[in-house]
Amino acid sequence: MLWQHFTVSTIIAIALYPFLGLWSLVVYVTGFLIDSDHYLFYIIKKKSWNIKKAYRYFRTETQKVSEYKKMVKVFHFLEYIPVMLIASLFHTLFIAAAIGFVAHIIMDFIYEEHAFGSVRGYSLLSRLSAGKQKAL
Ligand SMILES: [Zn+2]
Repeated sequence: MLWQHFTVSTIIAIALYPFLGLWSLVVYVTGFLIDSDHYLFYIIKKKSWNIKKAYRYFRTETQKVSEYKKMVKVFHFLEYIPVMLIASLFHTLFIAAAIGFVAHIIMDFIYEEHAFGSVRGYSLLSRLSAGKQKAL
């Protein structure tokens, strides 16, 4: 999935360059680098910084639906979209950020629907609400 995010982010950044200039490079941050939260999840869950083991973990364990759905991807929450759209009224950087983010999320949705048959875990509010219901 990483190369698809990189390829699409590159195409978007090139397409946006005439309009946003160097700010179009921000597309990489939200279109490609937000997947760094997978590694962050691994560090917290496994209490290990070993990037090779993390890569192996994501190539094997998270291919199982049950393991994948446990993963918390803190940079992927849909609640960031309205924040970026409002912020884009004030600075060009957030337009590029929002475009890269939305493109990334769409690709993740397509992948997860195809691979796992459903898309879950992208709403912080939904996760918090589910957590409260479990506590009751
Ligand atoms: Zn992603």
